[in-house]
Amino acid sequence: MSDRLRIAVQKKGRLAEDSFAMLKKCGLRFSIRGGGLLARVKNVPVDLLLVRDDDIPSFVATGAADLGIAGENVLVEEVLMTAGGMDAVIDRRLGFSRCKLCLAADSNGPIQSSKDLEGTKIATTYPGVLGKYLKENNIKATSVEMKGAVELAPSINIAESICDLVSSGATLEANGLAAFETILESEAVLIKSSRKFSPEKQDIYDKLVRRIDGVLRSADSKYIMLNAPKDAVAAISEILPGSDAPTIIPLGGDSDLVAVQAVCTENVFWDTLEDLKAAGARSILVLPIEKMLG
Ligand code: ATP
Ligand code: ZN
Repeated sequence: MSDRLRIAVQKKGRLAEDSFAMLKKCGLRFSIRGGGLLARVKNVPVDLLLVRDDDIPSFVATGAADLGIAGENVLVEEVLMTAGGMDAVIDRRLGFSRCKLCLAADSNGPIQSSKDLEGTKIATTYPGVLGKYLKENNIKATSVEMKGAVELAPSINIAESICDLVSSGATLEANGLAAFETILESEAVLIKSSRKFSPEKQDIYDKLVRRIDGVLRSADSKYIMLNAPKDAVAAISEILPGSDAPTIIPLGGDSDLVAVQAVCTENVFWDTLEDLKAAGARSILVLPIEKMLG
C-alpha cells in the first residue's frame, strides 16, 4: 500500500486538465469522478491526490504526497510565505500552463512603470513574490492581499495597481488595465522534496519521469522523410533542426537518389521545408511522433 507513489495534482481549475492530459500521455490510466480526494491509477502503482493548487507544495514538503504538479508561481509563493521555508523544489519544468506574474495599472493613469509605485497600494494574491520584488527593488509600496478578482481593485479604489497572473492580457484589457512589468515567468512544474524514496517508490518515480521526459521531447519532435541526390545529403543534414545523424537509405532503381529519415527534436517550420527543398530535397514528409523513449 505505502509503495504506491502519490502525486498531488489540482482537482479543478486551469492546471487540472493539462496535468491529467500529461499523465495520460505517460500511459497512466485513471478516471476523475465525483468528489473523491484520491484517484487510483489502474495500471501503475500511482495514486493522484486531488487538491487545491495552493496546498500542493506543502503536501509534498510534509510527505502527504511524494510529488506534486503545480504552477511555479504557486511553489515560489508558498515557499516565500512559509516561515523557515519549505522542503519543496522543482524536479523538472513541464512546459504547460505558461503565464506571467505582472504589475499592471490603468493604461492611461499615473502609474506607467515600477518607479511610479512608491507610496501606493498594490492589490495581489501573491504577497510573497510581490513583497520580495518590492524589497529587492527598494520600492516602498503597500501590498493589499485579495483572494480573487484582483483586476477589479483599481476601479473600486482598493489599490492604484495590481500584481496578477497574465497569459493573454485579455482580462487586463477588459478592465482597462495594462501590464508594465513582469516579476515572475511561470509554467507547470513537477515538485519534489529532499526526502529519499523507498527503493520501490524510486523505481516508480524513475519510470514515470522517463515517460514525462519522453512526452516533453516528443511534443516538439517530428519525423522527417525525404528523397535527395546523394551529393545533397550533407547540406540537407545541416538544415534538419535538432537531429543527430539521419538514416540514409539507398533507393531502388535510381542510383543517384537516397531516402533520408531523421527525428527532429526542434520545431519544423514551413521555412525549414523550403530550405530543404532549395538544398535538393524532394517528396518531403513531416510526421508527428507520438512517443519517445531515449
Ligand atoms: P484552486 O481552486 O486550485 O486554488 P485557483 O483559482 O487558485 O484554483 P487557477 O485559476 O485554476 O487557480 O490557476 C491555477 C494555475 O494555473 C495558476 O496558479 C497558474 O500557474 C496557471 N495559469 C495558467 N494560465 C493562467 C491564467 N491565464 N491565469 C491564471 N493562472 C493561470
Ligand atoms: Zn489556488
